[in-house]
Amino acid sequence: MTKSEELYERACKVMPGGVNSPVRAFGSVGQTPRMIASADGAYMTDEDGNRYLDFVGSWGPMILGHNHPAVREAVIKACGDGLSFGAATAREVEMAELICGSVPNVEMVRMVNSGTEAVMSAIRAARGFTGRDRIVKFTGCYHGHSDALLVQAGSGVMTAGIPDSAGVPEGCTRDTLSAVYNDAESVRNLFEAFPEEIAAVIVEPAAANMGVVPPRAGFLESLRKLCTEHGALLIFDEVITGFRLGFAGAQGYFGVDADLVTFGKIIGAGMPVGAYGGRREIMQKVAPLGPVYQAGTLSGNPVAMAAGLAQLTILREHPEIYTQLNETGDWFFGEAAKLLAAAGAKAQVSSCGSLGCIFFTETPVVNYAAAKTSDTARYTEYFRHMLSHGIYLAPSQFEAMFLSAAHRREELQRTLDVMQEFFFSDSRGMG
Ligand SMILES: *Cc1c(COP(=O)(O)O)cnc(C)c1O
Repeated sequence: MTKSEELYERACKVMPGGVNSPVRAFGSVGQTPRMIASADGAYMTDEDGNRYLDFVGSWGPMILGHNHPAVREAVIKACGDGLSFGAATAREVEMAELICGSVPNVEMVRMVNSGTEAVMSAIRAARGFTGRDRIVKFTGCYHGHSDALLVQAGSGVMTAGIPDSAGVPEGCTRDTLSAVYNDAESVRNLFEAFPEEIAAVIVEPAAANMGVVPPRAGFLESLRKLCTEHGALLIFDEVITGFRLGFAGAQGYFGVDADLVTFGKIIGAGMPVGAYGGRREIMQKVAPLGPVYQAGTLSGNPVAMAAGLAQLTILREHPEIYTQLNETGDWFFGEAAKLLAAAGAKAQVSSCGSLGCIFFTETPVVNYAAAKTSDTARYTEYFRHMLSHGIYLAPSQFEAMFLSAAHRREELQRTLDVMQEFFFSDSRGMG
């Protein structure tokens, strides 16, 4: 038995499924999770000393690679000053200034402790601001695990095949309406069916929790127009795309304005952090300025702020990181697509900048229904092949590959070579 297996056996006795988040379980790919002992740059090492080229990157935060020295040093320094005060600090002011100074339409921001919390709170602010209750989300988009948003969600919910979660009272999701990603008509229909009742439309501007599904040309623009026409707010859930597609996030990348934006992942650099922000008039509704209550004992935690500030400062000072990441993404996913075409594989590559995935289906994937046509058994074979060659992918068809600044061409070329072996092997590649 490996150390990972031993630990997993212990874990299963005391933790549901042996994990603290379902996406970490390897059940859907018929394996047991590797217990990770350490990580550096583009690599992770497990408890048995196996080294993996990592394409999960803690699900997005590690855009500079693991254990970046500047982030580590900032955290160590902050720890020396005390772990938490439950009081206002300089670091959180700097963080808020940095976000408001770089993200369009974010004039005020509130720090929280996770992406889930950020989205839950942004929805509350949107409802408080508009005086309306209903929200529109897209099938296959994941916005964290708060009650109102666990409706036809992506990510782990999709992998587990759970349509909606048990334990969520019907009342909690009654005001959540589902639309079809990349289909603005489906949103227009909801606005017509529920005039002046919809507080907000929330969207992953580039969907990355049903695999990676970029927005079609005009989709986000149509959402912007519909929201403005109907007095609803447009919320970009940028927990993944924020500070990844560019320093101005998806708003900058696609050139579409949102009213509220949620963050997580990259702004914490690996620490538990989230944030939501938007125009001043909306954010002024949040307590203590306004009637929308939202609080947090550890929000704006100084150690977490130090980590995030260190990472964001590097990204701000080196805009070429984004140019390189997006170019590298285009090259890598482009090469992967050529490889699949050459192999005649019943699969396709879908990507947006440094995010991408392989869907094991020939149906063009533009939304959840199309993503669901993927052959997850084939993904399992692919996943196992890659893992056995030291390449660590998400243990699910419906998650992204995350590139980081630490992924160099030579590592990516090796990844392509391992992919090639899989797709060109007769028994597996052609069937
Ligand atoms: C990860 C994610 C969340 C939830 O963030 P947590 O920190 O896991 O709570 C919300 N929205 C999107 C788009 C995400 O990818």
